[in-house]
Amino acid sequence: MFVISQKANIVIVGGGIFGCAIAYYYTRNYPGKKVLVLERNEICNAATSRAAALMTIVRSKKSYIPLSLETYQAVVQMEKQLGESLDMRMSGMMHLAASDARVEDLNVLLEIADQFRQPYEYLSSERAHSMSPWLKADEAMRIVFFPGEAYCDPYLLGTFFSRCARQQGAEILQSCAVKELIYRAGAVYGVKTSQGTIEADIVIDAAGAWANVLSMQTGTAIPMAPVRSQYWITEKADIFPVDGPMVLLPDAQAYARPEGGALLFGVREHQSLYASPDKLPDDISNFMFSDDKGMSDLAENGDRLARFFPHFYDTGIKYYMAGFSGYTPDGQLVMGKVPGVENFLLASGCCGAGIAVSGGVGLALAELASGNPSTFDLSDFDVSRFGKIDPFSTSWLERCAMSRSKKLSG
Ligand SMILES: Cc1cc2nc3c(=O)[nH]c(=O)nc-3n(C[C@H](O)[C@H](O)[C@H](O)COP(=O)(O)OP(=O)(O)OC[C@H]3O[C@@H](n4cnc5c(N)ncnc54)[C@H](O)[C@@H]3O)c2cc1C
Repeated sequence: MFVISQKANIVIVGGGIFGCAIAYYYTRNYPGKKVLVLERNEICNAATSRAAALMTIVRSKKSYIPLSLETYQAVVQMEKQLGESLDMRMSGMMHLAASDARVEDLNVLLEIADQFRQPYEYLSSERAHSMSPWLKADEAMRIVFFPGEAYCDPYLLGTFFSRCARQQGAEILQSCAVKELIYRAGAVYGVKTSQGTIEADIVIDAAGAWANVLSMQTGTAIPMAPVRSQYWITEKADIFPVDGPMVLLPDAQAYARPEGGALLFGVREHQSLYASPDKLPDDISNFMFSDDKGMSDLAENGDRLARFFPHFYDTGIKYYMAGFSGYTPDGQLVMGKVPGVENFLLASGCCGAGIAVSGGVGLALAELASGNPSTFDLSDFDVSRFGKIDPFSTSWLERCAMSRSKKLSG
């Protein structure tokens, strides 16, 4: 058996965007320590590379906002470090409200934007249509544009974190599966991997949809479940300008953004598909998320979108994309320390926002791993907030899937 390293200060399980971001911040802020990221497949190849990668800042969940702002700062720093552009698209985000309830939500969002000093402007329906010619905005009661928000290539952002982390001394091992946590008497002391045993001062579980499979070895149930996200990309057309804004349509439970002259869009299904973490294959590259590329979901939910996108039914669909994100019943992340288990930290339950919050998650976990308190308020993300749960039970999985079905934002 080939053992790459027998002792490390920090072992991070999972080379998705969370694992890579933690390695980046830890090696940047606490140089000279041995940091290993262990990824059983290829880095950033599970949920991360599949994301629509809306980097939303202003949200109703205020606890996410400082984390997302950190991501934007990290991008600037990493671009400088690597001497390359991430080519983040500063398209801005348009929110369109077409009912009293959604106008109320939008008003709350504007108060939040003011609190976090995020700029916005009101748009007329004509202006909204001229920015997004595919959009029928005349039923809107209020339209607001947040110019400071972007989308990006999520694989590129994940690999920016990993490349900077490597430059700063992290080792990122691919094809290295963590089989077991070394756990005794209430503490984790390392991991057993497909390439040998590695002792560690701190182990961080950043294993995405699979995180519960490992954490349950310590009796820690992470309150989340793997729930499918899916989106579609249309064929190219003149009504989809390359530099148009991202658009949120909460009345349709839909979002859209430009994709190189086409439109990438998602619309929430009434019953989101979920899977038990212990039943997921180790590699989801060939996982059958939908045998009809989500077409029956589109048929069921498309009318809601067509209300704002009248060419929906006569526009060809070119691509389908799906993946598993970790959803929680309250739409909050799960991260931080695990009560009763020493030397073990979690970065999980991304609720479909992991690209946006990756910088903050990376910084927070690096701070905790170094023994410092986090600069962020992590109280909403506490692992024990739902009490005792069975993360593999059908009732729990359904409860988490419901939180995605009800989601109004992007
Ligand atoms: C279709 C879709 C659209 C999305 N859209 C957005 C969006 O618009 N904006 C946004 O912010 N987010 C979005 N997301 C969510 C985002 O992709 C995730 O939040 C983010 O990628 C989570 O990163 P992660 O590192 O936790 O998980 P992952 O990227 O899944 O990484 C986890 C890694 O852990 C590895 N692993 C698991 N177990 C082990 C083990 N035992 N040993 C070694 N390695 C292991 C896996 O192989 C995997 O590579 C979307 C997700 C999907 C699927």
